[in-house]
This record gives sequence, structure tokens and C-alpha cells, in this order.
Amino acid sequence: MKQDWIKKKINELDSIGGYQKPEMHPDALKLDSNENYVISKQFQQDLINNAKKNCDVREYPLGGVERLINQLSKFLKVPSSMIGVGNGSDQILDLILSNFASKQTKVITSNPTFGFFEERCKLYSIPVTAIPFSSTMTLDINDFLKLSKSADILYLDSPNNPTGFQFQKNDLQKLVKSFNGLIIIDEAYGEFGDFSLSGMVKSQENLIVVQTLSKSFGLAGLRLGYFIANKKFTDVFNRVLQYPYPVSTLTIESAIVALDQYTQMKDAVQIIKEERKRIIENLKKYEAFEVFDSKANFVLFDAHGSHKRVYNALAEQGISIRTLGKIGKHDGCLRVTIGTKEMNSKFLLAIRDLLG
Ligand SMILES: *Cc1c(COP(=O)(O)O)cnc(C)c1O
Repeated sequence: MKQDWIKKKINELDSIGGYQKPEMHPDALKLDSNENYVISKQFQQDLINNAKKNCDVREYPLGGVERLINQLSKFLKVPSSMIGVGNGSDQILDLILSNFASKQTKVITSNPTFGFFEERCKLYSIPVTAIPFSSTMTLDINDFLKLSKSADILYLDSPNNPTGFQFQKNDLQKLVKSFNGLIIIDEAYGEFGDFSLSGMVKSQENLIVVQTLSKSFGLAGLRLGYFIANKKFTDVFNRVLQYPYPVSTLTIESAIVALDQYTQMKDAVQIIKEERKRIIENLKKYEAFEVFDSKANFVLFDAHGSHKRVYNALAEQGISIRTLGKIGKHDGCLRVTIGTKEMNSKFLLAIRDLLG
């Protein structure tokens, strides 16, 4: 048959599997996807309604991305020539991988790392070396300094998803300075962490810092990611790699309004950090759990043998968290997103009912 190659290709792609999205539980308390519920639905709806007034969706958003980049430039205090946007940071990561990497490119990252990034490397048959986390869920900078010498691309999410770990700033700076290949630092959770590396982009030509409105700004559904990189890379990315109209008019106008009101994001981040402390302290009271420190808007803990029971009991009560299972020596890992005070209290109460 003439079309045999199509079937073969489809089967080959089928076997890759793809990114595992969380299960849908309508009406559940969603603590599974690191979304931000501290910023209210009403606040975001008002934002969209404001943005809507500037939208004429009959037209292509000509000049829209440029205006959005200028707004990002003001917010980040970085020249607009060093900023690019994408349909979520997922799309930015994908465009970088599909254009800069191949079967011959060696990527180095951590294990675990961001699931989407891993899946994309698999899709493009890019070989990945993944340095494992220790049993205390930390990474050793010396492992990276040593092994990165033979790599072409370094990818680190800082803080890391799903562990919540972030390197010390001077350690990560040292690694970036020593690495000659392409460096992608994914700061999806940067606002919840201790530092950003965006200030290093000016002196490091090979550094791309990727950020997003999905987490701290509570706009995961808007799909807006952006990056900070040197002028030459940014120009080529925006002009050659990126689609002519990568984000919708509504996304552009909404993001411009959201960035104007960034103090809302700062306040939410403050609350989430306080709540993170409360959740960690509370979970640590249970002998059944081993709880890891976090610099992100979620907490990872090992529930050992009882992880399925905990996950199912929470699900039955309409509380959805993420089950990760085995990470290194830890075989029962669960990840819970920090929600509103009320959501977090419900989660902790359900845990107490089960184990208290
Ligand atoms: C959530 C997340 C992103 C965000 O992706 P968007 O496409 O911008 O929503 C990126 N990197 C990591 C590590 C994440 O966990």
C-alpha cells in the first residue's frame, strides 16, 4: 500500500505517548496544576472585560505583539529588543528545541524536570542526560558543572517542577558562566522563588530566561509566555521562528492590562508564600509523610506506602492533587498546589480526617 509510511509514522508517534494532562474532575478543588486561585475569578473577568474594549477580532493583531513587548519591557525593565513572546512558554520551549536541537544534540537537565520539556525531547529524538535529585530533593551543582561540559543545551526550571527546588543564586550563576552551550532557564515559578537570572542575560549571550503569566499572574488560560535573551537571538526568534501571529488579540490586550495591574500579582504571591509555609508545617506533623521544602507555588511530599490511599481519599472528597509516584528513592510522591487559604484549609482538614 502506498500509504504504509503514514501508518508507520502515526504508530511511531502514537508510541511516544505525549504529555500527561491531569484528570478532569468537574467541580473539584483543583490543587493539581499549579494554577493561582488567590487572584479572584471576578478580578480576571473585569480584566478581560477591560481588554475587550480594545479588541477588533475581525483583524489580525498587526503590531499587537510589538505593543505587548513594549509593555513587558516596562514591567521587566529590560529593553524590548531582548524580549519575545509565545503561546504559553510551552510554545517558546518547543520552538527552541525544534530549531536548535536534533538527534545529535546533547541536552542536560535534572531528573525530574518539567514533563512537557521531557516529552518534547522525546518527540524530536533529542538525547537527554538527566541528573537525579538527591534523597532530600536537592541537586548538586558540582554534578552539573562536571557533566555539562559535554552537553550542547542546558535546561533547568528554576524553581523546579515538581520538587520546588531552586539552586542558590551564586551556584546557578557559576554554572551559567561555565557553560558554553545554549542555556534555557525556565522561571515559570520565578516570582515564588528567591531570585531571577534575567539580569544575567546582558552579559551572557547564550542564556535564555523563560517566564510566563500562567502561574503568578493567574492567567494559565490566556496562554502567554515570554523570554528574555540577547538581541540577536531575540530578533531571529521573533522574525523567523515565531509564527506571524502567535497570540490572539484578546491575549495581547488582556496581558497588557494584567501587566499594568501587576501589584495584584505581587500581593497574591505574598499570600501564596505564607500559605506554602503553613502547608509545609502542617504536613510535617504526620509521620507518614516526608515533606520537601519548596520555592514554588506547590509542595512535594512523599506519602510512602499510603500515597494511593491519600490520593484516592482526597479525590473522593473532591480534592484533586497530582500523583507523581516514584522519584528516586521516594516511591509515593504527591504534589499539592497552594490555593486560597480556604482551599488549603479544606485540603489540610481532609488529610487530618484521614491520618489524624
Ligand atoms: C507551568 C509551567 C510552565 C508554563 O507553561 P505555559 O505554557 O506558560 O503555561 C513552564 N515551565 C514549567 C516548569 C511549568 O511548570
